[in-house]
Amino acid sequence: MSTYFLYARKSTDVEDKQVLSIDAQLSELRSLAKHDGLQIVAEFVEKQSAKMPGRPVFNDMIRRLIAGEAQGIVCWKIDRLARNPVDGGQISWLLQQSVIQHIQTHDRSFLPADNVLMMSVELGMANQYIRDLSANTKRGQREKARRGEYPGLAPLGYINNPRTKRVEVDRRKAPAIRAAFELYAENKSRFEDIAAFLYERSVRTKKINKSGSSGDKPLKKDSIKKMLTNIFYYGHFEYSGEIYKGVHTPLVSKQLFDKVQAVLELRGRQRHKPKNEPQPLCGIMRCGECGGMITGEVITKHQKNGNVHRYVYYRCTKKRGLCSQSYIREEALSVQLSDLLSLYVMPTDWPQELCRMANEDEQKAESVAMTAVQELRVKIAQLDGKMSRFVDLYSEQDIDRDTFLTRKRGLMSERKSAEEQIARLEHDATLWLQPLRDFIKDASMLEEIAKTDNLPSKKLSLQKIFGSNLSLHTREARGVALPQWASLREAQNNFDKSSPVLCIADGEGFEPSRGCNAPATLAVWYFRPLSHPSIRSRVPNLMCESEEDYMCWTSF
Ligand SMILES: [Zn+2]
Repeated sequence: MSTYFLYARKSTDVEDKQVLSIDAQLSELRSLAKHDGLQIVAEFVEKQSAKMPGRPVFNDMIRRLIAGEAQGIVCWKIDRLARNPVDGGQISWLLQQSVIQHIQTHDRSFLPADNVLMMSVELGMANQYIRDLSANTKRGQREKARRGEYPGLAPLGYINNPRTKRVEVDRRKAPAIRAAFELYAENKSRFEDIAAFLYERSVRTKKINKSGSSGDKPLKKDSIKKMLTNIFYYGHFEYSGEIYKGVHTPLVSKQLFDKVQAVLELRGRQRHKPKNEPQPLCGIMRCGECGGMITGEVITKHQKNGNVHRYVYYRCTKKRGLCSQSYIREEALSVQLSDLLSLYVMPTDWPQELCRMANEDEQKAESVAMTAVQELRVKIAQLDGKMSRFVDLYSEQDIDRDTFLTRKRGLMSERKSAEEQIARLEHDATLWLQPLRDFIKDASMLEEIAKTDNLPSKKLSLQKIFGSNLSLHTREARGVALPQWASLREAQNNFDKSSPVLCIADGEGFEPSRGCNAPATLAVWYFRPLSHPSIRSRVPNLMCESEEDYMCWTSF
């Protein structure tokens, strides 16, 4: 005797609106089975649409039918089993193969011997119904949109009235939404602030949302942005890519909406520039009291008449603990730094003279290097000659292998050193002049830089002159210059202003003119390696740290 599965299905989707409830289907089908004497071995209840393949309960039932657990299905209508060609085809095929021997609905029977067309028509109709419904729904919604009625879920501040099918103002929430637009237009609030503002006025996330998490929280930033950019609020709406003029009551004026859009754009741009963006003079000064770094920040002041002022202040970060230092305005600091820079300006006639000396030195150094290179080349030739003599001795077996190898190793080592010396001389002979040339350039540009408002250039010069020895104390910038700059300043101060003749001290540096009364105790030494004989002879006790040490500006 055949056994049956009972299958009942109803989804919450629009296509099943007119279908009997699941309970009604079950009771009808049970009494139908009893009446016809069909033995039900299992009941399958599904609460999902059949428009797409992949229903779990249906798939389970099919699997068990194929396994032979039952031979027939009892269901309300054939469209309960399938509304798509995949599932429909499977039912049809199983019936033709007699895996399913009988399908009983409330008004008819389907058997394997039946005309295949009947089953296909029924299943095809179920499928077509879904397609029509979807097309009709879309057509209906487009028509609705053309009439100015929004065919979707009402935005915040509105409700969908199920009776009139219109979107109406939510009297409880609308005032808060309007106030939120006004608040944002003032350009003082972030999205989070607007969310908090609305939260206080009971505009919150839905209590139960789709993901099942509990709501009643402040709205997310995305939701706020969506709200502030939704043209629905001034009376229009967008539906499927088109803009329609709505019949709903606007909550805000177009003017207010536009103001909000302007603020959105402004703040959107500012997001890429954080508020604490490093200011031009940051990172070069330390606090004179606590040693903390001096940082800058922008302060924007809004006046009642609508004017907006932007100030940059510099102050101690106070990250090293207690510190009583106050802040200083960028303009005031900039003036002070210019004053500091101008102390190190090189007198106009010096650069030319120094350049001339540098060129002279370069020539001298080059000829010295050339002589040295020639000597080294001779040495290499001698080493090569020695080597070939040893090879001869070894091949004549006049010396043993060990002696030969030892001598060879020694000669090759000497040759390598000489080669490297040549390379170094050819490349580096005048390299030590570069710092001097850079210094002359920096020093001669200083006057110009001190006059301008170009803060990045000022910063660069300050770093060159003071390194990390610049500090801010009681709103006053102070600095200890690096030796070459300190020397420049002293030399400059000690020149007789009435006869500013630059004398080169024994052709090696420059110092106050001997023609004037200033004692020649201050000399700014020319950049030369400390090992340079001219330096050694002048300053016998000078400590020389390395051959490459170019720092030979000194005052004594
Ligand atoms: Zn400090």
